[in-house]
Amino acid sequence: MTSPFLIPSPACISFSGGRSSARMVYEINAAHGGRLPDDIIVLFANTGRERPETLRFVQECGSRWGIRIRIVEYRPESPGFEEVGFNSLSRDGEPFEALIRKKQRLPNWKERWCTQFLKVGAMTAFARSLGWVHGSYLEVIGLRDDEGVRILNGLERAEKDGRRIAYPLAKAKLTKADIMSFWASQPFDLGLEPWEGNCDLCFCVGQANRMARIRRNPSAATWWARQEAEQQGFFDRRVRVHQLVERVRREPDLFADFHDDEFDAECGLHCGFDTGEVA
Ligand code: SF4
Repeated sequence: MTSPFLIPSPACISFSGGRSSARMVYEINAAHGGRLPDDIIVLFANTGRERPETLRFVQECGSRWGIRIRIVEYRPESPGFEEVGFNSLSRDGEPFEALIRKKQRLPNWKERWCTQFLKVGAMTAFARSLGWVHGSYLEVIGLRDDEGVRILNGLERAEKDGRRIAYPLAKAKLTKADIMSFWASQPFDLGLEPWEGNCDLCFCVGQANRMARIRRNPSAATWWARQEAEQQGFFDRRVRVHQLVERVRREPDLFADFHDDEFDAECGLHCGFDTGEVA
């Protein structure tokens, strides 16, 4: 039987910087004899609010496995992205802030256009710069077998948009437990809890999760609170970031016990957007 990780080219592998998609990159590289063809690219879209651990992990996966991982960031001007290196990438929310300023408002739970532009749009614009259009290349996503609903939603959207999409982890029947046991056997790891992935204070996760993030990484809140102040708006209509900070200060242990690993997944797949639009 052909390996699910032996993918046809041209292909764009979406690397979220999480453990699941890193395992996928590893397996695809191995299935191709340890050297990916030039027209199979591995792409990471940096929002600027990624955790330092995520950025280090992405770099380490590339250097340890001998894989060229390309990094793109959203830019408000055409063509809508810039390719950057590990030394020059944004670490203080610059791409995200540029998008907010262009939109002159904040994304929220109902309107998660940050994903659309910072992740999916930047990758799509990069692919377009290679002359690749939807349907002419395979988009490879790191969803696992235990993420069935997301897979069905993704396939439905892809069909509607005329995209070709593959989920090799799911095809290989790999689940979260398989991913975790793989990383337990590796000499390096992401170094984050499963609930800490993606943007450091993503408004799509629950309040308890965000409070735990603030407790572990108090400085993260500053950027998010500043966006709310500057736009006179909110990421979450129920609570402002500065209120979460205040709650953490008053009740440092109240939220220690929660179960929310929702975001051990690709941010770009949480939304149904995929336009070539430049914000
Ligand atoms: S992780 Fe959250 S805040 Fe960041 S781009 Fe994705 S949906 Fe938006």
